[in-house]
Amino acid sequence: MQIGGKLQAKLGVRWRINMISTICLHRIHEHLTDVPTAYHELRMTIQLDNLLQKLIDLNHYNVENNYKTLVTFDDGWKDVLLIPEDFFLQYNTLQPVIFLTDAQIRGDLNPLPLHKLYSWMNLNDIKIDDLIKLSISRNDLKDLREDDQHSNLSNLINEVSLKDEYLNYSDIKYLRSNDWIIASHGPEHSDLRFIEDGELIQLLSKSLSLLKENNIKAWIAWPEGRWDDRISKIAKDLGFTKQFGLIEELRKGSNLDVELRKLW
Ligand SMILES: [Zn+2]
Repeated sequence: MQIGGKLQAKLGVRWRINMISTICLHRIHEHLTDVPTAYHELRMTIQLDNLLQKLIDLNHYNVENNYKTLVTFDDGWKDVLLIPEDFFLQYNTLQPVIFLTDAQIRGDLNPLPLHKLYSWMNLNDIKIDDLIKLSISRNDLKDLREDDQHSNLSNLINEVSLKDEYLNYSDIKYLRSNDWIIASHGPEHSDLRFIEDGELIQLLSKSLSLLKENNIKAWIAWPEGRWDDRISKIAKDLGFTKQFGLIEELRKGSNLDVELRKLW
């Protein structure tokens, strides 16, 4: 196939991957043991050098084809600081974006429920497939509101502190000074499709005020990549200017206002 007058093979990049204008990442590790096993099992972590090489290839492709890509990071992990400071300044067709929940924007670094679960599993050498024997279902947890996820796990898991693993206020300030975009990962980390209009409007309005107070872009990445046409319309009407979902998530609507991201 010819791309921009060059053979695709010569570019050394894969056509389909690079046609995606937005990428979604969670964790980044240098060594396998840097992040709990669950993130490896769930393919929610990528090795740093591998990531950087993929991004360099993508930037090369973008330069040739006059594209730009948003490289987005969910859930506020400090792992992004492993990326060299000048990386995105050097490969400037790639725009980094961090999506944070309201609590994270307010500086609350208590762990998200599933993060707590994965750390506990790691400490106790429990694999994803073992969860069923312990009557824990990741999928059931994801269907609950964030507070209910916490209380569901509380009789099993003692408090886990991950506060040194999340981006704090000064990290965020530093990233912003390097032109990283900060945006919203929702009022709470749960499936917001389960919240009825009245409450959702209230929650999203609060999120918007928080974004405004902190001079943060009115973009939202739906938690778990789950959204439908009803909630995306509410978000748009309230004033969110961009919305993001995930290509891989089946529970999504059809509204073209939501940009689908590819998990890396
Ligand atoms: Zn998330």
